Amino acid sequence: MRKLFIAGNWKMNMGPKETSNFFKEITQLNVNSAGKVDAAVCPPHISLLAASGNKPKNLNVSIGSQNVYYEENGAFTGEVSISMLKEVGCEYAIVGHSERRQLFGESDAFINRKVIKCLAEKLTPILCVGELLDERKSGTHFDVVKLQISDDLKGLTAAQVSNLVIAYEPVWAIGTGETASPEQAQEMHAFIRKELVGLFNNDVAKKIRILYGGSMKPSNAQELLKNEDVDGGLIGGASLKPDSFAELVNIAEGVVK
Ligand code: PEP
Repeated sequence: MRKLFIAGNWKMNMGPKETSNFFKEITQLNVNSAGKVDAAVCPPHISLLAASGNKPKNLNVSIGSQNVYYEENGAFTGEVSISMLKEVGCEYAIVGHSERRQLFGESDAFINRKVIKCLAEKLTPILCVGELLDERKSGTHFDVVKLQISDDLKGLTAAQVSNLVIAYEPVWAIGTGETASPEQAQEMHAFIRKELVGLFNNDVAKKIRILYGGSMKPSNAQELLKNEDVDGGLIGGASLKPDSFAELVNIAEGVVK
């Protein structure tokens, strides 16, 4: 059985001061004390040190980055390497978020290089895939996601991808308040898992966690999370407040499949 994973994507919110306050406040909320689910927040790079410095050792919430570059160091202005992220306590890196794809022109080939390097260096990538509204409306959403998965995971073996996390994030549901229905989420997650069987094998496909992302919040989390192939959530807006993030983790703890 896959352990559910609740990951917060803070996007360009929460500077170092707010990040320190988040950890002070969430510590009071007794969140995930039994470690029944995996939980993580992904602050902006500038706040990662504040996150790892203020996170109490016994708090079962990991830290991840929202982006990463695949080179070790050198003349790559504005980029951050895997070893730098690990040095400030990151265990995860979001890779290929739709905002990176759309606003910053990241291609599948570029994302593929990041995924390969993260897996090699044991920084767990949370690979985001998902279709645009037009693609959903025209019925090409399965083709789009299939291509993203195969291009983003090109050249990797079953052994290499076993720790990968995938987030299915329909772009039309991100930050819009509109959520995929539990049926739509389950249908796409099952499709992704089937693709993973074809690309790798059944064992690894069963192991890889597939999170849902797109306006997940406490009021709809349970309905989404109880589906067989929905192994957690990548959550933007609703992860910014300690009480809402804690509630999401509590809901995941209570999900029985
Ligand atoms: C996201 O940023 O990955 C996301 C899913 O955002 P939101 O929950 O705000 O839709």
